[in-house]
Amino acid sequence: MYTEIRDFLNAHNVKLIAVSKTRSVAQIMHLYDQGQRAFGENRVQELMEKQPQLPGDIEWHLIGHLQKNKVKYIAPFIHLIHSADDLELIQTIQKEAYKNDRTIRILLQFHIADEQTKFGLAESDIETIMAARESGQLPNILFCGVMGMATLTDDKDKIRSEFRHLKTIFENLKSRNFCDEVHFREISMGMSGDYEIAVEEGATMVRLGTVLF
Ligand SMILES: *Cc1c(COP(=O)(O)O)cnc(C)c1O
Repeated sequence: MYTEIRDFLNAHNVKLIAVSKTRSVAQIMHLYDQGQRAFGENRVQELMEKQPQLPGDIEWHLIGHLQKNKVKYIAPFIHLIHSADDLELIQTIQKEAYKNDRTIRILLQFHIADEQTKFGLAESDIETIMAARESGQLPNILFCGVMGMATLTDDKDKIRSEFRHLKTIFENLKSRNFCDEVHFREISMGMSGDYEIAVEEGATMVRLGTVLF
């Protein structure tokens, strides 16, 4: 299953983030040995347990809600934080990136689903983040794009329209020069149940767990 999905995504120029939460080091190594290098975890504690046991050339993605007090643990090595969903969190990432003498890459997570429980920014939050960026407060943050999760539903039209909405947000931000064009280019959307729709709607990264393991 892994190679089929990988080849399908490669053909569409979409990057595969293998979501390894709840999976063992051995299960991760099984995909690593087939060439997979990008892995995603949603909990910092679990990531911190696994990361030292795995090869150093894995790029780790944080995909779940991130608490401010946990940023310091991942700041030295994280490749991309998909779940930047709050200005205070972004300011904390800035502080820890500076301490580590790094630039940290983030995606702005937007709330595109119906469900109340899913984290994410509203479009109206953009202005304050933009102001913070423009006033030079976030020199160690590299804004790389957007992330979103569709409603958990069988209604494919609904999922499609939510992904389209995220794409529109991305295009709006891009047209406002929210970040330099070179780096602001990622749309992280699509999970095991809906990634084919996400690819059709312009995802540049999908986050897959269940279908891979
Ligand atoms: C678990 C998780 C995924 C992967 O979900 P699957 O349905 O197992 O593919 C993707 N994104 C986030 C944020 C997750 O927490």
